[in-house]
Amino acid sequence: MTTKQFKAESKRLLEMMVNSIYSQREIFLRELISNSSDAIDKIYYKALTDEALSFDKDNYYITVEANKETRTLKISDTGIGMTKEDLENNLGTIAQSGSLAFKSETELKDGHDIIGQFGVGFYSAFMVADVVTVISKALGREEAYKWESKGADGYEIVPIEKDSVGTEIILSIKENTEEDSYDEFLEEYRLQAIIKKYSDFIRYPIKMDVTNSQLKEGSEDEYEEVTEEQTINSMVPIWRKNKSELSDEDYENFYAEKHYGFDKPLKHIHISVDGTVRYNAILFIPENMPFNYYSKEYEKGLELYSNGVLIMDKCADLLPDYFSFVKGMVDSEDLSLNISREILQHDRQLKVIAKNIQKKVKNELKSLLKNDREKYEAFYKSFGTQLKYGVYSEYGAHKELLQDLLMFYSSKEKKMVTLDEYVSRMPEDQKYIYYATGESPERIEKLPQTELVLDKGFEILYFTEDIDEFAAKMLMTYKEKEFKSVSSGDLGIEADEAETNTDEEKQENKDLFEKMKEILADKVKDVRASKRLKSHPVCLSTEGDVTIEMEKVLSAMPDNQNVKADKVLEINVNHDVFESLKAAFDKDEEKVRLYTNLLYNQALLIEGLEIQDPVEFTNDICKVMA
Ligand code: ADP
Ligand code: MG
Repeated sequence: MTTKQFKAESKRLLEMMVNSIYSQREIFLRELISNSSDAIDKIYYKALTDEALSFDKDNYYITVEANKETRTLKISDTGIGMTKEDLENNLGTIAQSGSLAFKSETELKDGHDIIGQFGVGFYSAFMVADVVTVISKALGREEAYKWESKGADGYEIVPIEKDSVGTEIILSIKENTEEDSYDEFLEEYRLQAIIKKYSDFIRYPIKMDVTNSQLKEGSEDEYEEVTEEQTINSMVPIWRKNKSELSDEDYENFYAEKHYGFDKPLKHIHISVDGTVRYNAILFIPENMPFNYYSKEYEKGLELYSNGVLIMDKCADLLPDYFSFVKGMVDSEDLSLNISREILQHDRQLKVIAKNIQKKVKNELKSLLKNDREKYEAFYKSFGTQLKYGVYSEYGAHKELLQDLLMFYSSKEKKMVTLDEYVSRMPEDQKYIYYATGESPERIEKLPQTELVLDKGFEILYFTEDIDEFAAKMLMTYKEKEFKSVSSGDLGIEADEAETNTDEEKQENKDLFEKMKEILADKVKDVRASKRLKSHPVCLSTEGDVTIEMEKVLSAMPDNQNVKADKVLEINVNHDVFESLKAAFDKDEEKVRLYTNLLYNQALLIEGLEIQDPVEFTNDICKVMA
């Protein structure tokens, strides 16, 4: 008999499991029990559509048996079983996502994030066992097989006798080491506690022999040990329980057991509705972003149950895209069991539930923002971008719903603020909601365009993500206040009288600006004296709807249409540099050309735009220095 090798990724994972420093080894039991429960579910489904098959609830259960002498723990089920091919395919590979490669080595090392993320449940058995044996007989088959593995080295499959359909998993529990004790996984009371903690709501009985001291029959003071089989789990699904019976820990355990995420949820929402459409739901707002959240791979959706039976893993129709981060499940008595995906899409009941869920999630986020700012900001850090996409998508159809959930970094508060907070402290003479775009608050702070607005004492919102400005354009206004880029032509701020130039100067400047515009040709739409610059010599502003930031974002898109912002070169006429320009005007055409190009290129650099000819630019600087 040759030993087969695991697929490469599985092998790595197995090594990790074997040498696991994962603190909660006990979860292996949760994983194996949940697999057994899935296997029974599969028979249940089959019986729904297969006339020849009947599902008698009494025949379906899971047993847990510990044997201290042989140091083995056996988990058996009467589920659908596995064929030889199933054993090979399901237990020899981590087939599902193959995305283990996504994770960095360091993340892999502690194993913490891994469990459950890739459907690696079964492998967790190797955290407590040196040998794992699986004996299984598939429904409708005569033959049974034994799969056995000592870990990363590989596995063997051989034929074996087995009377009934189902699966037995036999774990040879590891010997204790100096650091670790494994004995606990053979202790009745400990196993009972683990089952209660993680698998209480499993819908099928989990049976185990339990030994109790009982008064001997006919005796008044003599006790005897009596062993009898008991069902350990209550079998009531958590979503059917009363909120008041449940603790945060119960919800957290459910979240982990369901593999909704490997973080702790920030918030849970337990819904029980008994209206025209009856349903129960448990929803979670995760704290951390799934590693593939902003990629195509990420699939949104909630688990959908019909009267306690899972009918769909990820029902996408239950969640709008802007709330795609929500995890959880919905159980409704009013949905038919063998409903198809296509029919489901048009299901009226489902639509009502979806609408309801959307409202609940929104309210929950709102109350989090109001009552637990720290948590909300943690949430926003992970999923704020998605909310902003939500504002922008579908031509702004959801902006009303989402605008109060948005946050941006504030020049005044030096932290994230809401639009409501911004607007409510606007001074009377401030017309607009000002924003500035850039890579980071540090970079934006240095932008010359912010000077005038900040000098006026007005607050600026810092837009540091590509989507920000697009979302603001879609919003247009918030509480009737228009959004205004600090780089836009008209800032709506009165220039100081004392600083306006005399008519004579204006005429003189006009000719100079004309000249500069001619030099820059189609690179800028206009050259003019700046009202917003205080200490910097130059900056770019824009006219019209397209800002420089938008030009950058749009040109980075694959099918960019070469959309350009109408740029205006603004010159600080109170700056020394302007004196030099004036002095050169009419006398030294070459110098005016040199200065103009230098100033223009400087303005580009400040905006984070590319200089067309860097060599020429450095040569120009040298000319000035020489
Ligand atoms: P997941 O449960 O997420 O699919 P696991 O690693 O826990 O991943 O299990 C891998 C696969 O092995 C399961 O999808 C199932 O097909 C099969 N399997 C595991 N345990 C059993 C069992 N007790 N009965 C039938 N099939 C099982
Ligand atoms: Mg599993």
